[in-house]
Amino acid sequence: MSEYQDVTYEVVGAVARIYHNRPNRRNAEGTRLLDELSLALTRAAADDEVRVVIIGGTGDHFSAGHDVKEAMERPDVVETRYAYEETHYLGLCLRLWDFPKPTIAQVQGACIAGGFMVANMCDLLVAADDAYFVDSTCVTLAAAATEVLVHPWVMGMRTAKEFLYTGQRMTAADGYRIGMVNRVVARSELTETAMKLASDIAKAPPFAIKMLKRSLNRTADMQGFRNAIQAHFDTHELCHTTQEYKQVRASGLDATIARAKRLAQ
Ligand code: ZN
Repeated sequence: MSEYQDVTYEVVGAVARIYHNRPNRRNAEGTRLLDELSLALTRAAADDEVRVVIIGGTGDHFSAGHDVKEAMERPDVVETRYAYEETHYLGLCLRLWDFPKPTIAQVQGACIAGGFMVANMCDLLVAADDAYFVDSTCVTLAAAATEVLVHPWVMGMRTAKEFLYTGQRMTAADGYRIGMVNRVVARSELTETAMKLASDIAKAPPFAIKMLKRSLNRTADMQGFRNAIQAHFDTHELCHTTQEYKQVRASGLDATIARAKRLAQ
């Protein structure tokens, strides 16, 4: 585990567990965390002993999203931002989508914006009853959702529109009701429940399940999943250049965070 600072990596039986690990920052996804997440995925893909991957978070929250403080410090230049977000946000999420083994998101507490898209690019999602989901990127940051618009695919169009237009929080119970969440359990049972599900899936023949995942993903791709995800990324990048976005940046980070927090309550 020691080679990572912002993630933990552990193999238990046939299951690799990769956790966001910045609990004192609500597991905010900074550059180092995202790079380490990517390295950990490469390692889990290459390890023949690993058949299923669980993505989770240490502490009270899955992830409060991108490290906005760090993002505000990066240069406000289109070419630089596009390249960064293409690699760290879109690229990582598509790697999760294309990951050759089944993946399970294990979610407690906050699962917000960037955290929401990482969790929802996993194949399955298991949530603690205290988990909640928010993407107030449009309302508070003047951008068209987060970089990866997985929302309509996992929520259905009508719910996704309300969720994104209002920026209000969705509970784990509501996530389960609409089919975005596979299981909701008490917080104390979350790790065990995800492990049990992962271990059950790990019994399937690995090549067959790899092909099955490929076919299921291709079904979504034929319905336009990949094109829609890529098209939205460009639209999102456009929003980083608008007057609306510049006003948000000028009003400062504290005001933005305060507004996002009010909405998430
Ligand atoms: Zn962005």
